[in-house]
Amino acid sequence: MPQYRAPIRDFEFVLKEFLNIEKYKDLEGFEEVDNDLISALLSEGAKLCEEVLFPLNQSGDTEGVEFKNGNVKVPQGFKEAYETYTQSGWTALTCDKKYGGQGLPDVMNMAISEMICSANLSFGITPGLTHGAYNAIHMHGTEKLKKKYLPKMVDGTWTGVMCLTEPQCGTDLGLVRTTATPHGKGVYKINGSKIFISAGDQDLTENIIHLVLAKLPDAPDGIKGISLFVVPKIMVNDDGSLGEANNVTCGSIEHKMGIHASPTCVMNYDNSIGYLLGEAHKGLRAMFTMMNEARLYVGVQGLGLSEVSYQNAAEYAKERLQGRGLKGAKYPDKAADPLVVHPDIRRMLLTMRSFNEGARALATLTALKIDVSKKHPDEQERQDADDFVQMITPILKSYLTDAGFESTNLGMQIFGGHGYIKEYGMEQYSRDARIAQIYEGANGIQALDLVGRKLPKHTGRYLRAFFHPAAEFVEKHKENKEMAEFTKALHQALGTGQQASLWIAANGMGNPEEAAAGSSEYLRLMALVVFAYIWAQMAEISLKKLAQDTSEKEFYEAKLATARFYMQKILPHSYGLLASIVNGAKPVMAMKEEAF
Ligand SMILES: Cc1cc2nc3c(=O)[nH]c(=O)nc-3n(C[C@H](O)[C@H](O)[C@H](O)COP(=O)(O)OP(=O)(O)OC[C@H]3O[C@@H](n4cnc5c(N)ncnc54)[C@H](O)[C@@H]3O)c2cc1C
Repeated sequence: MPQYRAPIRDFEFVLKEFLNIEKYKDLEGFEEVDNDLISALLSEGAKLCEEVLFPLNQSGDTEGVEFKNGNVKVPQGFKEAYETYTQSGWTALTCDKKYGGQGLPDVMNMAISEMICSANLSFGITPGLTHGAYNAIHMHGTEKLKKKYLPKMVDGTWTGVMCLTEPQCGTDLGLVRTTATPHGKGVYKINGSKIFISAGDQDLTENIIHLVLAKLPDAPDGIKGISLFVVPKIMVNDDGSLGEANNVTCGSIEHKMGIHASPTCVMNYDNSIGYLLGEAHKGLRAMFTMMNEARLYVGVQGLGLSEVSYQNAAEYAKERLQGRGLKGAKYPDKAADPLVVHPDIRRMLLTMRSFNEGARALATLTALKIDVSKKHPDEQERQDADDFVQMITPILKSYLTDAGFESTNLGMQIFGGHGYIKEYGMEQYSRDARIAQIYEGANGIQALDLVGRKLPKHTGRYLRAFFHPAAEFVEKHKENKEMAEFTKALHQALGTGQQASLWIAANGMGNPEEAAAGSSEYLRLMALVVFAYIWAQMAEISLKKLAQDTSEKEFYEAKLATARFYMQKILPHSYGLLASIVNGAKPVMAMKEEAF
């Protein structure tokens, strides 16, 4: 049976030492955030995830979701777990106090989000989507809509879902066919079908609020003609009570590779009443304003699954006896040495661990930057933070889900044949992790966003929001001998990142295929460079702590060892990626279509 223990010490390292959250007290929402509150939230979150959600992960996977007489039924125990989750106030954590939320900053959501993804991703998808729908209504809804829908989404009485995809359109949302016909002021009749809608139907809550992309009769062609609508499954009366059913029905559910306990639904809207959210024809823009946060949370799905996979792989590697150490038996009294003595097993474990700890720090930093971009009184600070978020979002979504999936695969490999067997739980992590590379904008599309939109924007200003502070960090530590091994590697990595960026900018301008052909490699290269900056900063903190003769010597020494592994064994992959990028589009585009 797999195990999960929330990595509380590492969350504390990130929040208290790497980000020093207490210093943001002047920002709205941060007033009450101190190290005690952080510790209390971490320990409560860990209890929920370890004791309530994790024990349902394997049973939920095996039982799956049931579709009977037009209704979806979630696996046993999920309803009770959802009640515990909502009653403990987790859905309200970072929501606006005006609608019943606790008003804490977004950064305080990161640790609990990661824990939920580790413990039970299928469970976490429903409240995660509700938070996305909450954000969209909160940002774009009229006060009437907000008052009617938000309080019950905040306290978890109702859930929210995002309905974009149709059979003929996933990436290219300009092809949406669902229609919205005017039916009074701000009210529309919605007709059409959506596919692949996560939690489109479920029996956890009495109502589900659908955010549906549809076209008005006078809509221009393409993505400029899409509008966004709030479509409740059950109509809500003005006094907040529930009215009649709104002809929002589930046609069927999908049978899929992973996340078996999360319903993936075909949803039909048949003259269903919908309310325009935001401006007509600007639905995609409304969606995009909340996309950064949504993509960050999908990135964290890769991290969460990689973390739980690592924990089990590390335990197994210490227990399973196979072969002998190459320099002689390390445990001569045992029948064989444990797997962990073998260099290749250690390579896999450290690849996973350096990814997990780097990704945790980067994701939490990004959530903090989102808060700063919204709440800092200084306009320049807000803009700098937003520039960083703009650049890092496609990297986070793609790299954390790609490397997260690869990491779960390594975890399975460490278990050998046992990893392939269901009861050990390791193959479930790989199956569950795979979808995060596809939904919320497939990873190839994130790479195109990075090279096509983010890199050229404001003549490279978004990129500078990363490169400048990183270069300043190298400069600041240039006389620091202990830091030299990290700053030298970071300095070289920044050079590689700049070379790749210049090549893409120069060659992509004349021929966009040159940029697109290397876009996925460029995204991964930039992710490696960004992680190098994160690891160099974490190494600096650890060196300082060790110099102070800390009682937690082992923690900081392990951090440094992981930083060294990252800089010397993972970061050099960036050179190969650069070589591939500058080979351009020709090797990709040369083959005739008929030859495929
Ligand atoms: C389990 C599950 C849950 C989901 N949940 C939801 C949900 O809650 N709500 C919702 O609306 N949708 C949901 N989706 C749908 C998901 O977001 C889409 O599947 C995804 O956006 C990709 O769309 P598609 O499947 O139509 O693939 P396509 O758009 O057909 O793309 C196929 C491949 O081609 C690539 N591609 C497409 N266009 C280009 C291009 N211009 N250049 C380069 N490459 C390109 C893509 O990256 C992808 O790899 C879910 C899907 C699944 C499987």
